[in-house]
Amino acid sequence: MHVIERRSNDSRLLSRLEGEECQYCASGTLERGTYKGNLSMVCSACETPQIQLW
Ligand SMILES: [Zn+2]
Repeated sequence: MHVIERRSNDSRLLSRLEGEECQYCASGTLERGTYKGNLSMVCSACETPQIQLW
């Protein structure tokens, strides 16, 4: 089972992705959402979850 570790600064990092262009399709932008119960950024067009932590 894939587990995504949640950290206290996840939401701040994720917010940096908000409105960015999707890496997987040409037309979507990223918006905040949840994926399998974890906070995530999800494309508004293809709904591909995109999580990037620096
Ligand atoms: Zn997309």
